[in-house]
Amino acid sequence: MNNTLRIFDTQSSQLKELKPSDNKKYRFYCCGPTVYGPAHIGNFRTFLIQDVFRRVMELSGIETIHVRNITDVDDKTIRQSQQEGKTLREFTDYWRDYFHIDCKLLNILPPHYEPSAVALIPDQIRLIERLIETGHAYISPDNSVYYNISSFPEYGKLSNLDQDEISTTKESQLEANISDEYSKESLADFALWKSKKPEDGPNSWDSPWGEGRPGWHIECSTMSMKYLGETIDLHSGGVDLIFPHHENEIAQSEGATGKTFSETWFHINHLLVDGHKMSKSLGNLYTVKDIMNKGYTPAELRYVLISGHYRKQLNFTFDSLVASRQALNRISRVRKELQDICSAKDSSYEELVKRDNIKENLGRFGHAWEALLDNLNTAKALGFVFTSIHQIENDLLESRIGIDKAKEDLTGLLIFINAIGLELPEPLEVEVPDDVKVLADDRLSARKQKDWSKADELRQSIFKKGWIVNDSKDSYDLFPR
Ligand code: AMP
Ligand code: ZN
Repeated sequence: MNNTLRIFDTQSSQLKELKPSDNKKYRFYCCGPTVYGPAHIGNFRTFLIQDVFRRVMELSGIETIHVRNITDVDDKTIRQSQQEGKTLREFTDYWRDYFHIDCKLLNILPPHYEPSAVALIPDQIRLIERLIETGHAYISPDNSVYYNISSFPEYGKLSNLDQDEISTTKESQLEANISDEYSKESLADFALWKSKKPEDGPNSWDSPWGEGRPGWHIECSTMSMKYLGETIDLHSGGVDLIFPHHENEIAQSEGATGKTFSETWFHINHLLVDGHKMSKSLGNLYTVKDIMNKGYTPAELRYVLISGHYRKQLNFTFDSLVASRQALNRISRVRKELQDICSAKDSSYEELVKRDNIKENLGRFGHAWEALLDNLNTAKALGFVFTSIHQIENDLLESRIGIDKAKEDLTGLLIFINAIGLELPEPLEVEVPDDVKVLADDRLSARKQKDWSKADELRQSIFKKGWIVNDSKDSYDLFPR
């Protein structure tokens, strides 16, 4: 089995085998959060998939260097800090720390470097100067600096922009740069440096072109090149960043260096909630705290958010959280039973798993690992995991698992859990109340008689009493919800 991760590269539209281009460490950059409020669960889908990506790379034996920035200056952070009467620093520090707490709850590994945009303003100024020197940028009458997209003939190569579209819409250039974001329809030169405006308050910095602040796109080019070098292995973000953010990063970085900016582009599709785009006005924009306030754990949320293939949209529902509670409990119970047979405790993971040779240690979980390597197919991998879990449950029932087999199964399971960063709950050993047992027995009889509507009704009654029933062929399991 080849132990190399393959990922879909947005630029070439092809699967690529990922290896460090310097034969040492795999250097990758993820666009980080804009810290003006709590990140929502859509943002966390992207950060979680990037976390699984890193874990799989590392488990496959490749060391990584992971950089993720903090955007702590832009229109939104400035506006919001002023509304709250705080300094930009006070305001963004608070939301940065809040983000870190959410990441910790969700078991997201911290990046190796996490630079802030404000801290690196001098570096951004130097990159802008370099772009002016190389003829890619110009100073406007109001002392802002713009990137001239017609100076970079490859502009549009990541998002497949039509070159005619680029040249015909250039007239609108100056007005289009009032905001940090613009659409393909208003395609134009974009701001590298924005001259100070009265509404910026005290949030401006000195530069060779006068007081102002950097545009949004320049920070990622600067940080990526500062920490990882002019050509990096991979750059990642949600699909909304392909255009204009990543397109502009390529123009800035490749315009300045003449070298490929990133070998691979890894984009994660969006999370929907109940089939809709998340938005405050629809009231479907959830944070980690919202989910916890409804009684679910961060581990359950993590499970839901990583359970779909990253190239497809994922629809979040509260039913999926209920199902994830069941799934985690089932894995947890199997782990405990295997541990009991081979009397291994949690900490034995390191002991059991020889990291330099994990593919030899996967046992029944080999297919799940292969699915992860094949374009990070978490959905397929989890499917394989439950096939293996089912087999193990049956073998446990029939007492067919001895110490050696238990050790092998446990090792494979632990590797997989580690690869997707799951934190399993302690298996619940709660006594099932008699009235719930009676309902569940009635339901089993209804199922045997193929009375599906009665079975559904009883499942609802069981659920209302705080229990979830999980069917097996001739029986059932009950879990507290
Ligand atoms: P932001 O803080 O808005 O810059 O976003 C942080 C990350 O979340 C970026 O990589 C975005 O592309 C990503 N993102 C934003 N909305 C969603 C969503 N609904 N689903 C998945 N990722 C998202
Ligand atoms: Zn970025």
